[in-house]
Order: sequence, then structure tokens, then C-alpha cells
Amino acid sequence: MSSVMIKCPVTGRAVSTAIETEPNSFRRLPKVTARMRCPACGQDHEWTVSSAWLSGEPRLVAKMPVQKTAAAQLASRNRTAASRSTETSCDTPRSAMVTP
Ligand SMILES: [Zn+2]
Repeated sequence: MSSVMIKCPVTGRAVSTAIETEPNSFRRLPKVTARMRCPACGQDHEWTVSSAWLSGEPRLVAKMPVQKTAAAQLASRNRTAASRSTETSCDTPRSAMVTP
């Protein structure tokens, strides 16, 4: 289990939301706004999964813009892979028909 962390907008420090989850569960969390009492500044902060990260994976927040770029690259890769798999699936029925 890893703690879900956010960056305190007042102090700029990484603070724990006191929520612990598995990395796989964390990625599946809905992007709803949650509220927490910040241990660093004592104020209430609203946070979402997109601005939070797991304590074991600090890179998620530090490289937020890079992550978006990587996601865009992944999306274009997926498109390429999709067109490739379409070509492959065109061949598959033929061989399936040849081999009963
Ligand atoms: Zn704070």
C-alpha cells in the first residue's frame, strides 16, 4: 500500500492525504474532487486524482506536462497499432476459412 500524496498549494510541500491504496487501484480511481485537511498548513484543500500521486511514485507530479506528452505519444502509437491490427484481422478470417 502507498499513500496518496498531493502538493500543498500554500507551502508547496508534498503532503499525504491519509489515503492508502494500491497503484492499480489508484489508477482506476474516478477523477472526483476530494477534500482533505492539510497537515502542512492546516487548511482544507481540494484535490483530484490527476493532481495526486502515490508516495512511491513521485515522478507523476514532477513531470506532469511530460506525462501529457507521453500520453499523446501513446495515443498516436495506439492509432498506429490499431491500423496494423486491422490489417492483421483482414488476414485472419482468410486463414481461418482455409483451415477449418
Ligand atoms: Zn496546505
